[in-house]
Amino acid sequence: MLNNYHSEQKLYIVRKTALIIGSGLGGLATALRLSAKGYKVCMLEKYYQVGGRLNQLKKDGFTFDIGPSFFSMSYEFEELFADCAIDNPLDLHELDPIYSVYFEGKKTPYLIHKDIEKLAATFGDIEPNFKEKLANYLGKAKEIFHDTEYRIIKRNFDSLWQYALAMLTVPIKHSPMLFRSMWKELQRHFSSQEVKVIFSLVAFFLGSTPFDTPAVYSLLNYTELEHDGYWCVKGGMYQIATSIREILEESGVEIHYNTEIVAPIETTDGRLAGFSDQNGKIWTADVYVCNADAAFFRGEVLKRKKYTEPKLDNMQWTLAPFTIYLGIKGTIDNFYHHNYFLGNNFEAYANKIFKTAVSPQKPYYYVNVSSKTTPSCAPEGCENLFILCPVPDLRFKSNWDDREELANTIIKDLGERIGYDLLSNTISRTIFDPIDWRDKFNLYKGSGLGLAHGLNQVGALRPANFDEKFDNLFYVGASTIPGTGLPIVLISSKLVSQRIEKAFPNPYHSLLKKHSPKSMPEALV
Ligand SMILES: Cc1cc2nc3c(=O)[nH]c(=O)nc-3n(C[C@H](O)[C@H](O)[C@H](O)COP(=O)(O)OP(=O)(O)OC[C@H]3O[C@@H](n4cnc5c(N)ncnc54)[C@H](O)[C@@H]3O)c2cc1C
Repeated sequence: MLNNYHSEQKLYIVRKTALIIGSGLGGLATALRLSAKGYKVCMLEKYYQVGGRLNQLKKDGFTFDIGPSFFSMSYEFEELFADCAIDNPLDLHELDPIYSVYFEGKKTPYLIHKDIEKLAATFGDIEPNFKEKLANYLGKAKEIFHDTEYRIIKRNFDSLWQYALAMLTVPIKHSPMLFRSMWKELQRHFSSQEVKVIFSLVAFFLGSTPFDTPAVYSLLNYTELEHDGYWCVKGGMYQIATSIREILEESGVEIHYNTEIVAPIETTDGRLAGFSDQNGKIWTADVYVCNADAAFFRGEVLKRKKYTEPKLDNMQWTLAPFTIYLGIKGTIDNFYHHNYFLGNNFEAYANKIFKTAVSPQKPYYYVNVSSKTTPSCAPEGCENLFILCPVPDLRFKSNWDDREELANTIIKDLGERIGYDLLSNTISRTIFDPIDWRDKFNLYKGSGLGLAHGLNQVGALRPANFDEKFDNLFYVGASTIPGTGLPIVLISSKLVSQRIEKAFPNPYHSLLKKHSPKSMPEALV
């Protein structure tokens, strides 16, 4: 309850307090939004620094972004800062080409540009009438994106019923795309195997293969190829986390590291009174926001029956990352910011990697060289390589004793394909296998992007951003709505903040509108 009273000449207000569990991008963005609205925010983080998966590794003179290396829908960052009346501190850089794709046995990569003329030049020889076919394919994808953006993606749902009604407002003409796979949709438009494979890579961002992913997700091709392209941040992706952390600290938000929430504190009548951490310390607030995985936290910490281990195991999870951070002596040509290295057995590989207990013999992987755009990430005359190989999560492959062997296979293969002896020019080498990813950030069974996005795990069918039992507990991040990926997690922060402002309005904010923020602190308790 708010204590709001005049005493002599001063107005005393108790601000609503918000405790945010986890400082991934979802937690940071929610902290920014709530503190801009006058809530007194405190954050707890299990790791030793902010960012969650959007984190950084500094080693042997090299700096690596450990997870995300690019993003789409860059305007979501503009919107976050604009909503909080803060100048955007990030120097965003649009990628061109947006990525390159190397197929096994081919020396030169396909360069994927947003510019349609350049893209047509890339595929002119292998796909007749490419421009017309692409316009047709992306035309449909664009309609799906804009027909669902505000009706489904950027919306809170209070019930299944409300979600079902919202789905009915999406034009019926898109319904065949729910029942057809993305691969089938690509087959309807393109004949070249390379074009189909390249455009289907986005399905892996959702945690599935293009053979299982519904064709509606071709909207991701629209976001990458036409709408906003792909972006990175000058100075490295970790600038996102550090810039927001600095703003939060300046506005008085406390962040406690190495602090893991392990259990709720309930009152005798079943209300949430706080949370306890691994040392038994109790943390209380008016409102709680969980940025830890929304499904796993409900099972592990809240002990909900719907989220026991067998039930979590039955859900669809995205692939686990196997990541290698290499500091290399020498500069390597022909690399772009964002590069895929694929084999020639796409369908067989894609259908096997999700559920196998053996490491791939001929792995498909992704390489990012951020020293190309931010030279300070590597000592002079050196490059920093981030290699990401999607692998099965710990449900399917729990033993990673073969990690050095798998890393050597990948590094040797990459060296041969780019014509540079990486193994003998390695100065620094770090590997994170799915066990590391699980243990560092509480990612369920090491799944990299959280819950997958099949039609049974989206909208109101995804773990909600409000708690089923406690009315002062909310969720933000990749495994609640709308889903995973940096811009989508920013939308998640907006949706949860709207819920909190509605359920726990903060009168301080209406005063903030009338007075300058600098004149306010004196009036606070
Ligand atoms: C290898 C990799 C590459 C990726 N690449 C891209 C990319 O290029 N582009 C893109 O858009 N997305 C990418 N993603 C996805 C993106 O990183 C995530 O969708 C996004 O960062 C999720 O943010 P979040 O805030 O939901 O969760 P997280 O980043 O997981 O943050 C949750 C935080 O909560 C903390 N926590 C968990 N449990 C507790 C607890 N009990 N108590 C206290 N703290 C707790 C964790 O330590 C963590 O810091 C990638 C992910 C991975 C793993």
